[in-house]
Amino acid sequence: MDAFCLHRSHRERIPAWDCLCGFYAYKTEAAMAASEFAMVGDGDTVCGRVALWGRVIDHQSGYRAERAYPQVLYLTGKRKLDEVIRQLANIYAIECLPANLKNAEGDSA
Ligand SMILES: [Zn+2]
Repeated sequence: MDAFCLHRSHRERIPAWDCLCGFYAYKTEAAMAASEFAMVGDGDTVCGRVALWGRVIDHQSGYRAERAYPQVLYLTGKRKLDEVIRQLANIYAIECLPANLKNAEGDSA
């Protein structure tokens, strides 16, 4: 997937330093949990590991990237949400794993 920005002047350099555009990814699960953007607990948060490429800005707790694609999605144990996660994994042709395997792969959010 390619990131998009409504600012015409950014279209040649997404993500731009002075903007919020780009795909966001946290470096660690702890960084995600501490973020003001995290929506943990509402049942609508999907966690996984993503590949980022193109122009990537390295921030303290995460990255913003020009291009991204999910690699793995983690199941939550909540039936309805996991059904959605399985459908997303099918659409992206990736695997979904139980959340307890999240840390076995490294501390990525
Ligand atoms: Zn922008």
